[in-house]
Amino acid sequence: MSGSTPTKWVYDFSEGSKDQKDLLGGKGANLAEMTNLGLPVPPGFTITTDACRFYLEHGSTPEELDAQVSEHLAALERAMGKTLGDPADPLLVSVRSGAAASMPGMMETVLNVGLNDASVEGLARQSGSDRFAWDSYRRLIQMFGKTVLGIDGELFDDALDAVKAEQGTESDLDLDADHLRDVVGRYEAIVREHTGRDFPQDPREQMDLAINAVFDSWNAERAILYRRRERIPSDAGTAVNVVAMVFGNLGMDSGTGVAFTRDPGSGEQGVYGDYLQNAQGEDVVAGIRNTVPLPDLRQIDEGAYEELLGIMSRLEAHYRDLCDIEFTVERNKLWMLQTRVGKRTAAAAFRIATQLVDEGLIDMDEAVRRVTGDQLAQLMFPRFVSGGDAQQLTQGMNASPGAAVGRAVFSAEEAVKWADRGEKVVLVRRETNPDDLAGMIAAEGVLTSRGGKTSHAAVVARGMGKTCVCGAEELQVDTKNRRFSAPGGTVVEEGDVISIDGSTGRVWLGEVPVEPSSVVRYFEGEIDPDADDADDLVRSVHRILAHADETRTLDVRTNADTPEDAARARRFGARGIGLCRTEHMFLGDRRRLVEKLILAEGDDERQAALDGLEPLQKQDFLEIFEAMDGLPVTVRLLDPPLHEFLPDLTELSVRVAVAEAEGHHDEGQLRLLAAVRRMHEENPMLGLRGVRLGLVVPGLFAMQVRAIVEAACERLAAGGDPRPEIMIPLVGAVQELEAIREEADRVITEVQEQHGVDVRPLIGTMIEVPRAALTAGEIAQSAEFFSFGTNDLTQMTWGFSRDDVESAFFHQYLDKGIFGVSPFESLDRDGVGRLVELGVEGGRAARPDLKLGVCGEHGGDPDSVHFFHEVGLDYVSCSPFRVPVARLEAGRAALGAERAGG
Ligand code: ADP
Ligand code: MG
Ligand code: MG
Repeated sequence: MSGSTPTKWVYDFSEGSKDQKDLLGGKGANLAEMTNLGLPVPPGFTITTDACRFYLEHGSTPEELDAQVSEHLAALERAMGKTLGDPADPLLVSVRSGAAASMPGMMETVLNVGLNDASVEGLARQSGSDRFAWDSYRRLIQMFGKTVLGIDGELFDDALDAVKAEQGTESDLDLDADHLRDVVGRYEAIVREHTGRDFPQDPREQMDLAINAVFDSWNAERAILYRRRERIPSDAGTAVNVVAMVFGNLGMDSGTGVAFTRDPGSGEQGVYGDYLQNAQGEDVVAGIRNTVPLPDLRQIDEGAYEELLGIMSRLEAHYRDLCDIEFTVERNKLWMLQTRVGKRTAAAAFRIATQLVDEGLIDMDEAVRRVTGDQLAQLMFPRFVSGGDAQQLTQGMNASPGAAVGRAVFSAEEAVKWADRGEKVVLVRRETNPDDLAGMIAAEGVLTSRGGKTSHAAVVARGMGKTCVCGAEELQVDTKNRRFSAPGGTVVEEGDVISIDGSTGRVWLGEVPVEPSSVVRYFEGEIDPDADDADDLVRSVHRILAHADETRTLDVRTNADTPEDAARARRFGARGIGLCRTEHMFLGDRRRLVEKLILAEGDDERQAALDGLEPLQKQDFLEIFEAMDGLPVTVRLLDPPLHEFLPDLTELSVRVAVAEAEGHHDEGQLRLLAAVRRMHEENPMLGLRGVRLGLVVPGLFAMQVRAIVEAACERLAAGGDPRPEIMIPLVGAVQELEAIREEADRVITEVQEQHGVDVRPLIGTMIEVPRAALTAGEIAQSAEFFSFGTNDLTQMTWGFSRDDVESAFFHQYLDKGIFGVSPFESLDRDGVGRLVELGVEGGRAARPDLKLGVCGEHGGDPDSVHFFHEVGLDYVSCSPFRVPVARLEAGRAALGAERAGG
């Protein structure tokens, strides 16, 4: 290499800042920030994540690292007036992991590095406490042995327990210096036995080995798993912090604690945390002794307490957010060991955001950025109320949030049967497969004993918004005998009521009471956010959503097929319907009319069937237009293949065969069977559906258009303000659209003349076949709006049939990392998104005032909403319950927030 400046691998705490998380890791960046704020942080330095990446790539540390560490260690020794491991008066350090993204408890830290058989005596003399010195030494051997030397930690735990048992105590505080010396002896023997060498006595060697062990811990199995689950990049690496030790185990005037500047559970302001006297490091969270609540520190050590409170409020003001803190008191002197912006529950996130606005720390824009649509969605699920007398059976994985109570059933058929009788059921299976779908739909929730968060049950339940607990491995599910057993021998039989909590994974025998979420009651208009007794959470949600609404440029509509859904979505803030499907309107009693339409021989019979359907269709639209009065309603003409409205081929064949065998000859049934055979498709998704139906079945689309316009005329006459829009599905070529458009225009003119009123619905199309996106310019000549049907567009772009693939092998694709999230859940920006962009560009170039929306389920997905904002759509449309989520995320997108939030 030439004379370029060598890479800087090591930073003193005074050299960094909180904005350097990527380089220094979160812990290092925040230690630097606190140091520069003048807070009492023990001095130290940070080895960068670059060094870790180098080490992981090359298997050895960069050449200059050793010298740079020596240089910073020397500075640290000067600052402390001590030398690492000096037998007379040793400097001790901790060697701490700390990645850019918080990975709590995933990686390693070693305390008291620098102690050996000689310096332990020096430490004892200097501190005046033998007990403290030997306690520190046994902790070093324990942590170092486990983390650096890879010895099973239980061996050390067992040895400590043995000494405690010999002394007849359970508390480490009852062990004196001699006992701890005995523990050290046993620990040293364990090290010799398991590594074939003595515990390393050279302080610098201890430090270097610990640094490499921290690097290595990046690739510990649990860390890999955690990163995969949290979608943290696997190549980021961790920084290493070397920090001068301060001691909370020097006696009862010392201790260690954790603190939050507000309650991370509820967001309430106050002093939250735990404190433990005469303790070090993890003791406080490891539960070795009972901690005291932080406010008690005031009695124990008023000076340290007041200083801590002062620092906490400084940190909050500085970070402008809830902070999470680790501290230690050494002989009445307070030391800050860590801070970070703390994790919090969804409810706390909303409350804290508006509290900070009221305190003048952030503005409303920032408050909107600080919360996420996912958090809002969590607040909308009903909740279990604690209490009641249900018995907790086990805890599985929290696969899909919500609270479900119902009778246990063990097969999809039983689920459907019981549900049809009006019973609420929970489907219990070892694992589910595509055959269970009907049962999953019928059930309140799904419980499985096998499979993880990407198992069939989990993926499908999340897709349906259904509560699911999966992988409850302690349960023995016996589907044959229709029961399961839980630890302790409790047996749950078919029909017994169970409760499952998809947010925590808990499972109970019996009914746990649920309450509707106050946030949903607010959206429903049942809680007035301005009333004196409205709860804080509702008030926060209201303020934040109101601001998101003011900020966003993306409109939010809903997908709704019924007046009830339309009305609810409107209460939830939807400004119109972006997708009103018409297929549900052809089911039930109307099936017979559809059969007639399909079996019609000749124009007259067909027209008669259509004439029977039309008034019913008109009634559907009347009610929906009324619910959405004054707002646009996009009606999609019939999309699915007609055979979906006919009986199943096999079933019908059997029925006819049986009837024939019994001598009943039914001409009608035979004709039906022939039609079902004729219309059978190998691949219905790619068959006769959408606009193709409209072109092949004369009069079908004309009937629907007439019903829409007639309904609009009638609403007008009644003083309403209907705003229909007609949407043609599955168009791939402008010629298809033109043909339907011509027919529609003719019908519209006819109805207008008949009623003498002027209703001109916009006519547009879905863009859901890749060819439509590619030829958007031509299609726009004939369309007044586009609505991207991203469900079909995803299917057709990937060549996936959603029903077939999602439950069959998506979990494997997710496990293999082919995608991090299903493209049906979150828009595939690179592929499907590219087609959307092409569609937008082509369409707008041909027709600048073209209205653009999206009506796939992605319209309610936070990440996708950001994408649709970026490509400049006019609106997203989503299911009623996702409307508030889309409103919030559209606001956040306009404010340039990250999807994941603060
Ligand atoms: P984690 O990332 O798991 O929290 P830390 O590196 O923060 O691990 O350290 C583990 C424990 O040791 C924490 O309680 C921390 O406060 C404590 N600790 C770390 N360094 C020191 C030090 N120099 N002096 C005293 N205690 C320390
Ligand atoms: Mg920590
Ligand atoms: Mg479609």
